[in-house]
Amino acid sequence: MGLRWSEVQILSPRPFFIVCTDHRQWGAPIPGKKIAFSSTVAPLGFIMSRLDSMIRREAQKTCLESAIGRVATFPGPYLELGLGNGRTFDHLRQTAPDRDIFVFERKPAAHLDCTPDPEFLIEGDFTETLRPALELIKSKAVLAHCDIGTGIKVADEELAREISRDLDALLAVGAVILSDQPFKKTNWRPLSLPRNVDSGRYFMYAKTA
Ligand code: SAM
Repeated sequence: MGLRWSEVQILSPRPFFIVCTDHRQWGAPIPGKKIAFSSTVAPLGFIMSRLDSMIRREAQKTCLESAIGRVATFPGPYLELGLGNGRTFDHLRQTAPDRDIFVFERKPAAHLDCTPDPEFLIEGDFTETLRPALELIKSKAVLAHCDIGTGIKVADEELAREISRDLDALLAVGAVILSDQPFKKTNWRPLSLPRNVDSGRYFMYAKTA
């Protein structure tokens, strides 16, 4: 069917149902707009309430700070996958002002204040930009924050699977990976989340080899 979010409108803030054949074309759903429903498919994702979204941001901030603490004594840059509106990039640079932070984003659209300098912004699809990035980054990274979800579970998990090897190649042993998506990588050991973060809300790993 090959629907794109730009061709779809969402009617309800509840679980949404849609048949898509090309997830690379999917963007974020637009609440308040109509959506094409199909009774033959399972829900592909959920649109968050404002409260959920606030709790998610709190969890994200707590996990970011925990990860920064864990790698405080390790030398190396940070990686941010998904600039979005630059909120977490801004938090990272304020919390760890001495780190180089390389940001990967296919379509940078953050306010200029929250956009990295051009030498730290790697533009393009993760599936194409991660592999050659070591040449630019030079030293292996000690923290990677992957905020890459669209809310479409199957597509988000596939993207995580697709990029995990190239991302791994950019990371030092001991690096912490935190993400809104689960990763299944045998040399990434799952870390316990900070106490006030519910399991499944965010994911943290340490690279062991
Ligand atoms: N952490 C950001 C913030 O606090 O503002 C939000 C990130 S937003 C949830 C996800 C971002 O990842 C979007 O800007 C999107 O364009 C980008 N993205 C998603 N998939 C991508 C891909 N395959 N390659 C490059 N960028 C991608």
